[in-house]
Amino acid sequence: METSVIHEGYNSKDMLGSLTTPLFQTSTFTFQTAEQGERRFAGEEDGYIYSRLGNPTVTILEERIAALENGERGLAFGSGMAAVSAILLALTKANDHVLCSSGLYGCTFGLLTMMKEKYNINHDFSNMETEEEIRSQIKPETVCIYVETPINPTMKLIDLEMVAQVAKEYEIPVVVDNTFASPYLQNPLELGCDVVLHSATKYIGGHGDVIAGLAVGKKELIDEVATTTLKDIGGIMAPFDAWLLLRGLKTLPVRMDRHCDNAEEIYKRLKTHPNVRSVYYPNDDTHPDYEIMKKQMKRGGGVISFEIIGTKEDAQAFLNNLTFLKIAVSLGDAETLIEHPATMTHAVVPEDSRASMGITDQLIRLSVGLEAWQDIWHDLEQALDKINSDAYSKVLKSR
Ligand SMILES: *Cc1c(COP(=O)(O)O)cnc(C)c1O
Repeated sequence: METSVIHEGYNSKDMLGSLTTPLFQTSTFTFQTAEQGERRFAGEEDGYIYSRLGNPTVTILEERIAALENGERGLAFGSGMAAVSAILLALTKANDHVLCSSGLYGCTFGLLTMMKEKYNINHDFSNMETEEEIRSQIKPETVCIYVETPINPTMKLIDLEMVAQVAKEYEIPVVVDNTFASPYLQNPLELGCDVVLHSATKYIGGHGDVIAGLAVGKKELIDEVATTTLKDIGGIMAPFDAWLLLRGLKTLPVRMDRHCDNAEEIYKRLKTHPNVRSVYYPNDDTHPDYEIMKKQMKRGGGVISFEIIGTKEDAQAFLNNLTFLKIAVSLGDAETLIEHPATMTHAVVPEDSRASMGITDQLIRLSVGLEAWQDIWHDLEQALDKINSDAYSKVLKSR
C-alpha cells in the first residue's frame, strides 16, 4: 500500500521523465486524421477524445485507486455525491428497492428520498446486525444493498463479510461507502463486496482543497457507469482535482497512522471528562462493534463522536469556546474539524430518523487532525470545562 499510493498507474518514462504526474489541463484531444477520429469513436482504437470521456491525469488516479482497493476498475467523479448518485442510478430502475444501513450520509439520504418520490425506487433501513435481519428485509425487487461503515457520525460498524455473504445468496450487489475508513484502513472488495465508494474530499485528498469522488468495482459494472451515469449525467472530475488527489494520496498511509494515533489519545481523555456523557470510537474493547473493527479495519480511524452533558445551546457554546480548533463540516484534513451533526451535516434528516440514528442535540463530531494531540486536547478540555461553569454562564449572560 505504501508503495502503491506513490507509484501505481504511472510510469515517468511515458511522460518525458516527469517525476510527478503531468496535469493534462485540456478539454479535448486532437485527431491526426478524420479516420482516426472515426476509429476512436467506434472504440476500435484506444486514445483520448474529450475530457468528459477520459483524461490522462484522471486515468492515472483511477488506476491508482483501483489498485489500492484491489478492484478491477476505478472511476473518478466531481464529488463524492456524484459517485454515490452515478452508482445508485446505474443499479436501479423504477419500482426497484434498495436496502440501506440505518445511518447514512445526509445527502445520500436526500438522494434516496428523491429517487423514491420521483422514480418510485424504494428503500428501507436496516441495522444489518445479523444475517436473519438482512434476509428478512430483502424483497424480490431488492437490487442493491448500500452500506456505510463506520456509520457517520455514530461510528457504528457493520460486518461487511457477513453482509456480502448474504447478498451473494440473492445475487444482490453490495455497495460500500468507505469514506470514513479510507483505503488504508478498510478494503470492502476484499471482504466480498461489489462496489466501493469514496468521498475523496476527505482522507484521500487530505488537505481540504478539493471536492471529489471515486468508485471501484468489477470492470463490467464500472464500464457501464462510465458510459452512462458518469458520461451522460456528467459529474466528472476535473484534471486539476485528479492532480491534487494524486499528490494527497502519496501520504495517505503516513497521515492515516497519525490521525489514528491522535484520535486514540483524544478518545482516552474524552472518555474520562466529567462533562462528556458518551464517546463513540470503534478501536476500544468497550465499543459494541469492537470485534467487527478488529476483523475488517486496520485501526479505528480519525473520527470520534461524543455527547456532552447539557442542551443544544451548551453544545453550541462548547464549539464557540474553542480557540483554534475549526468549526467546520468535512473531515480527514490536516486541521482538526469539529461540527454539530443535528444542525449541520444531518439537519436534512427528519428529526425522528435522526433520533433513530442516534444523532442527538448533544452529539458532537470531531475529525481529529494532524496537529500535536496535546494541543488538540488542551483546546477541547478548556471548552469542555466551561460547560455549566461560572465562565460559561458569563458567556451566556453577555449575549
Ligand atoms: C462527504 C461524504 C460524502 C459526500 O462527498 P462529497 O465529496 O462531499 O460530495 C459521502 N459519504 C460520506 C460518508 C461523506 O463523508
